[in-house]
Amino acid sequence: MIIVLLGSPGSGKGTQAKRLCGRYNLTHLSTGDIFRQEMQSQSALGRKAEYYVKSGGLVPDELVTEMVAGRMDVDKGRFLLDGFPRNLQQAESLDADMRRQGRSLDLVICLNLSRTAALKRLTARRTCVTCGEVYNEVTRPCAKPGACDRCGGEVKAREDDSEATANKRLMLYEDVTHPLIAYYRAEGIFREVDAAGSLDTVTSGLCVLIDGHKAGIGGACASDIPGGAGE
Ligand code: AMP
Repeated sequence: MIIVLLGSPGSGKGTQAKRLCGRYNLTHLSTGDIFRQEMQSQSALGRKAEYYVKSGGLVPDELVTEMVAGRMDVDKGRFLLDGFPRNLQQAESLDADMRRQGRSLDLVICLNLSRTAALKRLTARRTCVTCGEVYNEVTRPCAKPGACDRCGGEVKAREDDSEATANKRLMLYEDVTHPLIAYYRAEGIFREVDAAGSLDTVTSGLCVLIDGHKAGIGGACASDIPGGAGE
């Protein structure tokens, strides 16, 4: 099963992706996380991506598509893509890759959130630089300010979550990522969920869509999987 999670920055893709991957035994492929790891280790790819990530722009397509193709293990074939594709060129390149492998995307699900709500979440978001755990200054602060509850690492705002850069990322989403909705709608695999609710409500909405898809293709439903949505 291959699922794409769409949605603006701040819509909760990363958090929901981690939950879904645990439930459905999918590999989480977050291009943003990969770029941040590569930047932290100062790899060649990280150095090339750094300027774009920090300034809230998009990393050039050829760097992104090559990196994703290299990480999609064809035989395993169980992926949740988070943050990719991000524009029409990337979507077409992913489709071409899938066709070459005789596969297709199962579902593209968009987490819908207003721009105002997304900006509020992004500017309040704090992230652990060591383990990536995500906090929110207002709704989920760390027990000890600045220190991760999970690993004790330093927790701070991502450079690209500053108000100016977050606004730029949201604008870029509207301009180049949002059009993917029409693209995938035309393919008949597009679904959407309201992302304004609680984490659990959004997860339930996503599971309903995924279970519905699995039932439709004659697969096991989540309740067949240990720790699945039915438990
Ligand atoms: P995210 O964590 O998904 O918000 O991504 C953080 C940053 O990584 C983005 O603002 C971009 O600079 C870069 N990035 C992530 N995914 C992509 C992509 N598919 N194409 C281009 N740039 C990306």
